[in-house]
Amino acid sequence: MILEPEIFKIEEVIPESTQAKSFIFRGRIDYQPGQFIMVWVPRLDEKPFSISYHGEDFFGITVALKGRFTQRLHQVKKGDSLGIRGPFGQAFNLQACSEHNESNGPTCVVGGGIGMASLAVLIERLKMSALGGSASGGPVIVQGARTESELLYRTRFKDMMLYTEDGSAGRRGLVTDPLEDMQWRHGFKALYTCGPEGMMVKVFEFARRNRIPLQASLERYIKCAIGLCGQCSCNGLRLCIDGPVVNAETLATLEDFGRFARLRNSQRVTIEEYLKGCA
Ligand SMILES: Cc1cc2nc3c(=O)[nH]c(=O)nc-3n(C[C@H](O)[C@H](O)[C@H](O)COP(=O)(O)OP(=O)(O)OC[C@H]3O[C@@H](n4cnc5c(N)ncnc54)[C@H](O)[C@@H]3O)c2cc1C
Repeated sequence: MILEPEIFKIEEVIPESTQAKSFIFRGRIDYQPGQFIMVWVPRLDEKPFSISYHGEDFFGITVALKGRFTQRLHQVKKGDSLGIRGPFGQAFNLQACSEHNESNGPTCVVGGGIGMASLAVLIERLKMSALGGSASGGPVIVQGARTESELLYRTRFKDMMLYTEDGSAGRRGLVTDPLEDMQWRHGFKALYTCGPEGMMVKVFEFARRNRIPLQASLERYIKCAIGLCGQCSCNGLRLCIDGPVVNAETLATLEDFGRFARLRNSQRVTIEEYLKGCA
C-alpha cells in the first residue's frame, strides 16, 4: 500500500463513452477488486477512484465527467503524471458469496453508470477463476445506463446484457428490471453491485427476497482514506476502511443507505442532493 502520493505517468488515455475516459498508468500496484485509490492533482484536490484496469505492470482508472476535479482529470494527456495513494478499503470477496449458499447457479454482476468501473476487474477475475459459473464460463453481467453513449466497456465484455432508460441500446428500462426473471432461469448463487444508490437499494431488496448473498460498493465523501477524519462515516461505518464494499447483512443495519449522505462540509443531506454534485 502506498501511503504518500507516488507519481505515476499516464501511458494511455482511452475514451470510453461521451462522459468517461480511462487513464492507464505503467507501474505495479497490489490491488484487489473493489478497493480504491486516491488520485492527487497538486494544488487542486485528491479524490477516490476505483481501479478499472489491472495487470502485472499496469493499472488504470475510469473517470466520469462531473465537477471541477474530474473536468481537470479529463484534460490530462498521455505522458502527464498524477499522484496516487493506495489501494485502500475492503475488496469484494470472490469466495464468500458462495460459502453459505447451496445454489450451483452463476454469479450476477449488476452495474449502473460509472459503477461499472468498480466492477470491471472483478468481472475479469470471476471469468478467470470460473467462479462465475454461467454457461459462457463467467458471471451474468447486466449493465444499465441512461442512454447508449454512456454505456461502458462494450467491446471489453461482449456478453453483457444492456439496459438503457431511453431504449437506445439493449432493452429499454432499468438494469434491475430483469432480475426476478433471471433469478427464475439461473438461480444466482451470488450478487455483486455498484451504481447509483437507488439502483443498489433495489438490488438489495431483490437479494433479500430471494436469499442471495450480496456485496455492494457504496459511495460516500472520502477525504483521508485511512479511517481518521470520519468524513465518510455512514451510521458509524467508516466507508474508507470498513467499505466501500459491504455485504447485505451490513447494508441492512445502515439507516442512511439509500436515504442520506454527508457533503464535504459534513452536512447530512438526502442522497439525491449529495449526488447532484453539491459536495
Ligand atoms: C470508493 C469510491 C470509488 C469511486 N470510484 C470512481 C470511479 O471509478 N470513477 C469515477 O468517475 N468516480 C468514482 N468515484 C467518485 C469520485 O470520487 C467523485 O465522484 C469525483 O471525484 C467527482 O468529483 P468532482 O470534483 O469532479 O465533482 P463534484 O461536483 O465535486 O462532486 C460530484 C459528486 O461526486 C461525489 N464526490 C465528490 N468528491 C468526492 C469524494 N472525495 N469522495 C466521494 N465522493 C465524492 C459526490 O457525490 C459529489 O456530489 C468514487 C467514489 C468513491 C467513494
